[in-house]
Amino acid sequence: MMKPDLLLTNIGQLATLEGHSEKPKIKDELKELSIITDGAIAIKDGKIIAVGTTKEITSEISEEPALPAIEFPNMLALPGFIDSHTHLVFGGSREKDFAMKLDGKSYMEILEAGGGILNTLRATREATKEELCSNAFSYAESMLAQGTTTIEAKSGYGLNVNDEVKMLQALQELHEKIPNSIVSTFLGAHAIPPEYKGRTDEYVDLVVNQMIPAITDKSLAEFCDVFCEEGVFDVEQSRRILEAAKTHDMKIKVHADEIVQLGGAELAAEIGAVSADHLLQASDDGLEAMRKAGTIATLLPATAFSLDTEYANARKMIEMGLPVALATDFNPNCANESMFFTIALACYKMKMHPREAISASTINAAHAIDRAQDLGSIELGKRADIIILECPNPEFIAYRFAVNQVHTVIVNGEVVHTRLGP
Ligand SMILES: [Zn+2]
Repeated sequence: MMKPDLLLTNIGQLATLEGHSEKPKIKDELKELSIITDGAIAIKDGKIIAVGTTKEITSEISEEPALPAIEFPNMLALPGFIDSHTHLVFGGSREKDFAMKLDGKSYMEILEAGGGILNTLRATREATKEELCSNAFSYAESMLAQGTTTIEAKSGYGLNVNDEVKMLQALQELHEKIPNSIVSTFLGAHAIPPEYKGRTDEYVDLVVNQMIPAITDKSLAEFCDVFCEEGVFDVEQSRRILEAAKTHDMKIKVHADEIVQLGGAELAAEIGAVSADHLLQASDDGLEAMRKAGTIATLLPATAFSLDTEYANARKMIEMGLPVALATDFNPNCANESMFFTIALACYKMKMHPREAISASTINAAHAIDRAQDLGSIELGKRADIIILECPNPEFIAYRFAVNQVHTVIVNGEVVHTRLGP
């Protein structure tokens, strides 16, 4: 007989997404959410200790749990969303660039005019660690209210040793202050800072010889990422950085083949990256190499929306058998932190099925940050990060598009947000 701390019962539909902690979902598996009708979940010490129908679970309870059971009729329970690609920490905001964009300037044109990422670079260098942390806090809080229980967050707006360290320390502080978990990624190779203009190889030396050792000495980041793109870091420079990161035991992510087909997908596969992200222009050979290497394809449709470009070919990737994940790419140039919006775009613009989009935002996203043993599904022993949506079934989540349908958010077994008040 069990004695849970928290009991959730009468859940209209409970999507467990069980059975994929070892390997991410591919092809038709993406549509299979393992739904229990009239479901219940028992939680103890922050972990899930039982999952089943309300009848099954209540018959196993020895005595009343510390809290009365919370009932969720006509609602949909999912594992908390995992936003596996964000640039959560930065100084300032970029609504002025947005106005330039409305005048028809491209991302690269704005960058060349000293705007874009360079605006954010200045504001981030000028900000204190505390200011960066409090700026990120308000966005992280909004993410939590919209069901995102784990956030991958990158550095990459400091672009020198001290400011990259400052950004990652701000993330570390943030992690202590908010219920959502933060997974940190070092992205020193996000852009070439103006003081290194025309000297990209020397900047790569700085990243390799000084930044990576400084970051790893302080254990500030689990992943290393590179913006492998024409006019930024080419394949050879990206390889140098990622090889160096590997020798310091960092896991690898790559911003790959977003704007031109450069071979980022091939590099990600070659280097054993956990994920390659964007992939709008990735070659078929690159995608096939990723599939063989087990690299997750993380798609970021809100970026395509904000840049008004084409979308990644999700249907082709799913049919090829690539494990697909979805993330917001929240950043000062794509100022939307909602997984509901990302899911809606995935369905309306990339023709993903809502069930596929849910798998891509939970268990496959957990694989994209190497957390699938602990997160991404509602299964025995996993951390109780659960969201309950005012949504009768999985299709409704995208059909009623881009609206926050969260009723209750549970992190580590505690109710951290509810529409009805705590
Ligand atoms: Zn990004």
